[in-house]
Amino acid sequence: MKKMLRIGLTGGIASGKSTVSNMFRSLGVPVIDADEIVREISRPGEPAYDEIIALFGNNIVNEEGYLRRDLIKDIIFKKTELKNKLENIIHPRVRDEIEERIASSNYPYCILSIPLLLETGADYGIDRILVIDAPVKIQLKRIIKRDGISEDLALSIIESQIDRQERLSSADDIIVNTGDTKHLEREVAILHRKYLDLASTYETVQQSSSERSVNIH
Ligand code: ADP
Repeated sequence: MKKMLRIGLTGGIASGKSTVSNMFRSLGVPVIDADEIVREISRPGEPAYDEIIALFGNNIVNEEGYLRRDLIKDIIFKKTELKNKLENIIHPRVRDEIEERIASSNYPYCILSIPLLLETGADYGIDRILVIDAPVKIQLKRIIKRDGISEDLALSIIESQIDRQERLSSADDIIVNTGDTKHLEREVAILHRKYLDLASTYETVQQSSSERSVNIH
């Protein structure tokens, strides 16, 4: 049985994950975005929505009835126990949705964009980890320009994420995003060929998708 090669794409805030995802998409690669799935499954009317309100209370809902993600982030930042409970609500559903999307894609490999892949330790059957890397100075510049937040806030978000060296040490592939977007496109094209190549030789026995097998370097 042929199993689709799964590339987990991660990186710090404003490292360039969305930009790289879009470049893979424009090459025809299926890109599955975990953050987008989290937003979808926690919309009003979805089962996770009620469970999340039951966990945090009604004051995390805004006037339009949507969950206030900023408030939730603040709360779980301070309370690990609630963070774990929230993850127990979200992760199984995200995993199911990822499996469904993979099952309906027909391509040699897919990109799973999971911003907190290394922080949460959740298992998505990833075969290789692609890290988008940028020095903190560049991250800060891009996040301030993109989100219009203060340097202090930007820095505190960066510091709440996994350390850059630690992230890099988990990587199978790295794109250093310090150049212009043309440079980034070339890097993506090189990896695209590499992944197509790997996928063509990637046969597995009926392996549980929860097993991570990073044995194809
Ligand atoms: P992430 O998804 O990792 O948070 P984004 O892809 O949104 O990061 O990139 C952060 C910001 O930096 C965006 O505004 C994006 O357009 C910009 N950006 C990303 N890569 C480059 C680059 N190589 N050159 C110039 N701007 C970039």
